[in-house]
Amino acid sequence: MLDIIIIGAGPAGLTAALYARRADKTVLILEKNGFGGQMTFSPKIENYPGFSDISGNELADKMVEQVLAQGADVEIEEVLSIEKTPLGFTVITDCGKYECRAVIAALGAKHRMLGVPGEDKFIGDGISFCAVCDGAFYTGKDVVVVGGGNSALQEALQLSDICSSVFIVQNLPYFTGEEKLIQEVMQKPNISYITDSVVKEFYGDETFEGIVIVKNGTEIIRKKTDGVFVAIGLQPENTILDSLAEIDNYGYVSADERCITETPGLFVAGDCRSKKIRQISTAIADGAASALAAIEFIR
Ligand SMILES: Cc1cc2nc3c(=O)[nH]c(=O)nc-3n(C[C@H](O)[C@H](O)[C@H](O)COP(=O)(O)OP(=O)(O)OC[C@H]3O[C@@H](n4cnc5c(N)ncnc54)[C@H](O)[C@@H]3O)c2cc1C
Repeated sequence: MLDIIIIGAGPAGLTAALYARRADKTVLILEKNGFGGQMTFSPKIENYPGFSDISGNELADKMVEQVLAQGADVEIEEVLSIEKTPLGFTVITDCGKYECRAVIAALGAKHRMLGVPGEDKFIGDGISFCAVCDGAFYTGKDVVVVGGGNSALQEALQLSDICSSVFIVQNLPYFTGEEKLIQEVMQKPNISYITDSVVKEFYGDETFEGIVIVKNGTEIIRKKTDGVFVAIGLQPENTILDSLAEIDNYGYVSADERCITETPGLFVAGDCRSKKIRQISTAIADGAASALAAIEFIR
């Protein structure tokens, strides 16, 4: 029986593995896609301490190398379900099943996408999902924010401090964010907006050039812009935890910064946990906290 199974090889899961291995626990990381998680979509990370500028892939490679050197095992397998047993857990994947004493679920989250032509092509090269992460690349430039909820309005306000102009595209006739944020947006001279409008396409030959907007279902507007921030929400993928942990109204696992769930021996770390800030640094903090909690649980 393994000591700890970690589900997800993003920064949270990899950090958890590092801490667990340093406590001499047997560790298996199960990852359904590639190692590194969301950060591998970012060509440039400038807010991770210790590296003034590093690509997400390079940072992921460094983290994986460090974890493998510590002796963690990794398998590319998707976890389909987790069952509580008298001695711990059975983790069932698309390839088999594993027994362990504790599970750390570091399942991450996905940014909701628009699902329109050009989106896949320009992600990380014209399309971003995070002003905190990528805003600085657009200093002095003209950008578009897609969305009208709290996160879109916050992104627009943040970008308006560094960008030349910010144009918000909202599908509904009104913004759905808090009134205070709406008022702040209205007072910013370099923010403008269009409502009842949807982005139908991201265009550009080799490099990104702009978007096609459809207003009121009929009027077509081609808008040139330097970058687009899509802020239509995050989508957690926590269904495998449904029967073992409390899931909040937004789909995240309810747990505080100790990462402990209501099922003894099950811990959650990173973007899949209910929290306000979802960044590499906060995922790593959770990775450390969850591993230390799991080690204490096993002891
Ligand atoms: C384009 C982009 C740019 C970003 N730039 C920055 C930045 O500059 N700075 C910053 O701090 N943050 C940035 N972020 C945010 C940051 O990447 C995330 O906050 C961080 O990766 C969260 O880490 P995590 O380990 O919790 O989850 P994730 O990175 O999402 O990793 C979760 C992993 O779990 C795996 N998984 C999920 N379900 C299963 C399952 N059932 N079985 C097996 N594996 C599973 C997924 O495949 C994934 O690899 C960016 C995000 C994106 C998308």
